[in-house]
Amino acid sequence: MIILQNGVFKEREEAYLDLDDRGCQFGDGVYEVVGVYEGAFFTLDEHLERLERSSREIRLVLPLSIEELKQSLSELAEKNGLENGSVYIQVTRGACARNHAFPDSSVRAEWLAYPMNPRKPSLEQLHGVGLKTSEDMRWLRCDIKSLNLLGNVMAKQEALENGCYEALLHRNGMITEGASTNFYVIKDGAVYTHPANNLILNGITRMKIKEICNNENIPFYEQPFQLGNLKEADEAFITSTTIEIVPVKLVDHQIIGSGVPGSLTRKLQELFKQEIQKEKSV
Ligand code: PLP
Repeated sequence: MIILQNGVFKEREEAYLDLDDRGCQFGDGVYEVVGVYEGAFFTLDEHLERLERSSREIRLVLPLSIEELKQSLSELAEKNGLENGSVYIQVTRGACARNHAFPDSSVRAEWLAYPMNPRKPSLEQLHGVGLKTSEDMRWLRCDIKSLNLLGNVMAKQEALENGCYEALLHRNGMITEGASTNFYVIKDGAVYTHPANNLILNGITRMKIKEICNNENIPFYEQPFQLGNLKEADEAFITSTTIEIVPVKLVDHQIIGSGVPGSLTRKLQELFKQEIQKEKSV
């Protein structure tokens, strides 16, 4: 595998990360995962815009322009012959003797990017999955796609150990999102999801779902909702770059709606596929 490190293409085995990299010591950095379909990036501009925003919010100066990054990522995908999968991009505040305070301006940010081939969850997309509720213990800037993911990691692991596919995070009963996904319920033909504020990551897939709903006149409400109201939901689903749209049939082993993926979730899956094709043809 060819990877990109600070603008240099290298074999995976040649990549080297400094012991004092702030990404390792403090999670002091930001990242993105961008999907690739049939050799083309999907929503690359949106992901790079979010990377820029995340960096700005943690006062990290990106070591290259978005245009340069875009060009490098295309070359990376090409060099790896990447057809379907994703590319991981990470930027940290660089390496220097361990100290919580920012390093001085002579320390440059470190960045890397490499392709990933995660398994497409085809069966889960078809049949739906179960979620495990978990108190959302993360910090109050979940809108930043930062490398600090311990709250997400702990919740995901607890979900897996309970036979579930994903965690459903909540703050005192108010649902926020999954450990690595956004969460939605459908009631009477309308889609509900948590508002894009500091308590969730505003997923690029979420933005696309919102756009699709607006175009199709499907009501899309950004409202906080309670775990206790889940029993009234007709359907539920989760989304992310890696899993696209996966129906939710169980939460804590309690059936959602009729217990099988619902018709509106299916329709959104279909429309999402069309969006991918549409972007390829532009
Ligand atoms: N929420 C969290 C906490 C995530 O980590 C992710 C993706 O990694 C998402 C939501 C979905 O974001 P996207 O659709 O941009 O992949």
